[in-house]
Amino acid sequence: MSRFAGKTLENLMPYTPGEQPRDMQYIKLNTNESPFPPSGKAQAAAASVAARLQLYPDPTCRALHEAYAASVGVPADCVLATNGSDEILNFAFMAFCDENTPAAFADITYGFYEVFAQLNRVPYRKIPLNEDFTLPIEAFCKNDATLFIANPNAPTGIALPASEIERILQANPDRVVLVDEAYVDFGGESCIPLVAQYDNLLVTQTFSKSRSMAGARLGFGVGNPALIADLNIIKYSTNPYNINSMTMAAGLGVLADESYTRANCETVIENREYLAAELARMGFIVLPSRTNFVFAKHPRMDGEEIYRYLRERGILVRHFTSPRIADYNRITIGARADMETLVNTLQKILEETT
Ligand code: PMP
Repeated sequence: MSRFAGKTLENLMPYTPGEQPRDMQYIKLNTNESPFPPSGKAQAAAASVAARLQLYPDPTCRALHEAYAASVGVPADCVLATNGSDEILNFAFMAFCDENTPAAFADITYGFYEVFAQLNRVPYRKIPLNEDFTLPIEAFCKNDATLFIANPNAPTGIALPASEIERILQANPDRVVLVDEAYVDFGGESCIPLVAQYDNLLVTQTFSKSRSMAGARLGFGVGNPALIADLNIIKYSTNPYNINSMTMAAGLGVLADESYTRANCETVIENREYLAAELARMGFIVLPSRTNFVFAKHPRMDGEEIYRYLRERGILVRHFTSPRIADYNRITIGARADMETLVNTLQKILEETT
């Protein structure tokens, strides 16, 4: 750190993104990317605006907001597009937390919540998940804080029904409850239908997973127009042009190709069920996933050892070192052939170590 760094930096533990190694060709199952290319319509739309990149993009994102709002069934003033959903998470910390309004989130959840709390110097509490990694609903009902809930959760993959989230919304009428639905398209239940009823609900979604656009950086928030107006104040105080022209065009392109998105999600779900069944057959404990990844451990093998063994054989998965989950690996669902290679490689580890 330089001698000029301020206090915020001193206390900040930045997020560690999944590795993106360039040393060899890996089967990449470590960052929950889609195994499919973006929709051809998204690619063509992005290319078609490349010749006009000398112009700033539309800061109001009007066409994109309207198309996305129509796709999720809300009025356009209930949505805000952001540079990946990470950006709207940060906006929410800036807008809805301060020294008197702490943040609260699960002890095992998306690691960026803690980073954004630290970055914005917001006090925060971690609420321990139950022993089986389900969300302790009662504890979330009793917390006087802005709540951040990933549903389905990451890295566990476990989903809550919207009715359980609704109990949390009802118990916290004076606090914003942010429901991060980054993985909802793989079998979760969205809370967007509750937005009309609860003015404290903010749902976030991303085009990085089910819509194969992680590289374009496009996320959305859906909430009451007053919440969206607050978030717009943050947007216009940080980066009014947060969605670049090519991403905006690609977003419109993929929204015009819903059947492509749906078919890809179905394939991911099929491949997930195949992988989960094969892992279980090999003795792995696999948490019930409604996402594009599974979280699994083997009773007689160390999580890190599995991670290393796979890495040496060209397969990358994500291993977290925090104590409650150090035995597990998070495995992104890829193409069927990659799932089969993974299963065969794991079979070998188990044979070699018996
Ligand atoms: N929420 C969760 C739970 C995630 O796992 C991720 C992906 N790392 C994000 C949000 C952010 O995704 P993006 O910024 O690519 O939309």
